[in-house]
Amino acid sequence: MTIRERNTIVRYLILSDIHSNLAAFEAVLADAGPFDKVWCLGDVIGYGPQPNECIERLKELPHICVAGNHDWASINKLDISSFNPDARQACLWTREQLTPSNWEFIESLPEKLVEDNFTIVHGSPRYPIWEYITHQFVAAANFAHFDTTYCLFGHTHVPVVYAFTGSQRTCDAFLLEPNEPVPIGEQRLLINPGGVGQPRDGDPRASYMILDKEANTIELRRVEYPIEETQRLMATLKLPPRLATRLSFGW
Ligand code: ZN
Repeated sequence: MTIRERNTIVRYLILSDIHSNLAAFEAVLADAGPFDKVWCLGDVIGYGPQPNECIERLKELPHICVAGNHDWASINKLDISSFNPDARQACLWTREQLTPSNWEFIESLPEKLVEDNFTIVHGSPRYPIWEYITHQFVAAANFAHFDTTYCLFGHTHVPVVYAFTGSQRTCDAFLLEPNEPVPIGEQRLLINPGGVGQPRDGDPRASYMILDKEANTIELRRVEYPIEETQRLMATLKLPPRLATRLSFGW
């Protein structure tokens, strides 16, 4: 990984849901090639074994980042009674681990950011922390809740692009092929890069995107990482076994 020295920002690394999985995060950084800036869509922590390490790695990079539900839950800013028992246990463990400065970092994350022509959120522009955009009709309703051409979101851990067609009831959905840059034009889009640290689309490889402003393209990338390294750490730390197992299957 190298960071280019120049004034104009051209290549953005779009990351979401790192979830304390440093091995996955490092694999993404090694795979990404040169980039100018990271846009991080939240849930840096929660579930995985290395919350402080992931925050510190992100802090080293030129970046902006929004808050996710697991970020807020970890600093006790959000009620976790609706979390499933495994998520709750991992969250309470994470809360114990955070150093004061990393706690402050998470506390400082905004719910929404706008940069250039992009709105950046974790869940959805309508309800940035909580809402899951899992379907075309949910996506369609959300186009009324941001003013920019594009909106980047995460939270579902599933890479997808929704395109506005003028209807508030439904829209088009596209699955991108990895390693194929796709031009983005005038059409308004909701873009999800998938999850770095806990993919849930049946492909266990870390998922992320590259935005190239010069070429005006987005590119989905998938990269293998040493899953067993993360799983071994989780076992040592006595994190819920189910959270470790699911990483092998990408669900
Ligand atoms: Zn998440």
